[in-house]
Amino acid sequence: MTEHRKSPLSRAEWQALADSLVLETRAYIDDAFVDAADGATLSTTNPATGEVLAEVASCDVADAEAAVSAARQAFDGGAWSRLAPGRRKKVLLRLADLMEANRHELALLDTLDMGKPVGSSLGDMSGAVACLRHHAESIDKLYGEVAPTGDDALGLVLREPLGVVASIVPWNFPLMMTAWKIAPALAAGNSVILKPSEKSPLSALRLAQLAREAGLPRGVFQVLPGYGHSVGKALALSMDVDCLAFTGSTGVGKQLMQYAGQSNLKKVFLECGGKSPNIVFADCKNLDRVAEHAAAAIFHNQGEVCIAGSRLLVENTIREAFVEKVLAAAERMQPGDPLDPASFMGAIVDQAQYERVLDYIRRGVEEGATLRTRGQPLDGPGLFIPPTVFDDVTDAMAIGREEIFGPVLSVFGFDSEDEAVRLANDSDYGLAAGLWSQDIDRIMRVTRRLRSGQVFVNNWADMDQTVPFGGVKQSGNGRDKSHHSLEEYSDLKSVWMTLSP
Ligand code: NAD
Repeated sequence: MTEHRKSPLSRAEWQALADSLVLETRAYIDDAFVDAADGATLSTTNPATGEVLAEVASCDVADAEAAVSAARQAFDGGAWSRLAPGRRKKVLLRLADLMEANRHELALLDTLDMGKPVGSSLGDMSGAVACLRHHAESIDKLYGEVAPTGDDALGLVLREPLGVVASIVPWNFPLMMTAWKIAPALAAGNSVILKPSEKSPLSALRLAQLAREAGLPRGVFQVLPGYGHSVGKALALSMDVDCLAFTGSTGVGKQLMQYAGQSNLKKVFLECGGKSPNIVFADCKNLDRVAEHAAAAIFHNQGEVCIAGSRLLVENTIREAFVEKVLAAAERMQPGDPLDPASFMGAIVDQAQYERVLDYIRRGVEEGATLRTRGQPLDGPGLFIPPTVFDDVTDAMAIGREEIFGPVLSVFGFDSEDEAVRLANDSDYGLAAGLWSQDIDRIMRVTRRLRSGQVFVNNWADMDQTVPFGGVKQSGNGRDKSHHSLEEYSDLKSVWMTLSP
């Protein structure tokens, strides 16, 4: 998703910065930092050390109601929703500048909270800032339409904000996923309530401080830390939330659609899970480079990536040699201290996810796949799982079908283009697919047949703010990034004016 950035700080300097942090732990509601109404808190823990970082406000129904009411008041008041787009742009650019100025602190918060290497978090910050700037810059360049009605009428097509948007985000790229959601929603003029994951709330709360400093009006941006089953559910069931913008698992995405149906039929925009196929044809040049990319496609961010290339489909004539190269590349991608700029992988986010990944590794062995690596975690106290590779995987095995969300690669063999396409599409998911070949005819044939929101040809996860991101099938139903994401947060209003002859 994002590249590692070369760290400007040493391990010791990151540690010194960590030691000096003053953490915001309260919710941000109606322009005030407050405890949860019932005083509840949740612990957020550093998975690389086991150390509790903070007790953070754990919001529930009363907090959701207060935030929704403030958001509605802000929207109806028009201080943001009716502000000229050029003026909204200035505030959002100020926020982007503040995020950039504080990028080391924001990156560090994500690293401490969820265990990813700090170089990777720095890459996320660049992506988040670019996203803010992109939408800020584009919002005053969007025009409405005049419909071709004829002389006796004027048909105007206006694009308008939706109202109150609740953004519910995951922990794997905490601040970057947040930026993908809030930047277009705010640019379009909505009031936004952000619910970060209970596993990674700290950067969102720091972002709230920066948003206030940037000058976002009261009630336009609020942050409610807490659990999905409490405050998340309350937002999803609210009769006064107009849109749920969600990134997370497919199971929770399905629940949100039910909540929308049980309440006010709010718009539900989903970015969900994946089990993405990465197809390597024997005609590839430079198999060493392809193997390096195939390994990074799954082991980057400890495999906790929605578009992880978790199914590697290799043409059988090169499979044995190619898997050896992937194993060699994986050997260079071992997990280590997330504050050490040299670490490629960090810690798994929490004990539950760690157990889940280890359980899949056990199931892979039981189901008869060939384990090509040790398949054992590192000794504690941190939650570190090294790159794990299974060969001879079939689509009947759990490790071949289900999203593991950890550093586990499943290798399949294929003999023909048809078989590769069949295996690739044989999934409930359709988020990303990769394809490595030198044959342009094959590339075009296969690309068209893949049921996937995005196809990476001779790369994995090269991307840019200008290109839409999202999935098909059970991977979701909308697009983050690019000007297309504005469509998720706005509606068309048709105005018909009859003209006097
Ligand atoms: P998750 O679905 O468990 O949680 C996501 C968010 O939903 C969290 O904030 C959580 O508190 C909230 N939530 C949980 N239950 C809820 C409920 N009943 N009502 C309202 N909110 C609820 O996912 P996760 O473990 O945080 O993240 C991992 C998942 O996210 C993976 O499946 C991954 O593929 C997916 N993901 C997708 C994309 C994408 O762009 N498609 C990007 C990143 C992650």
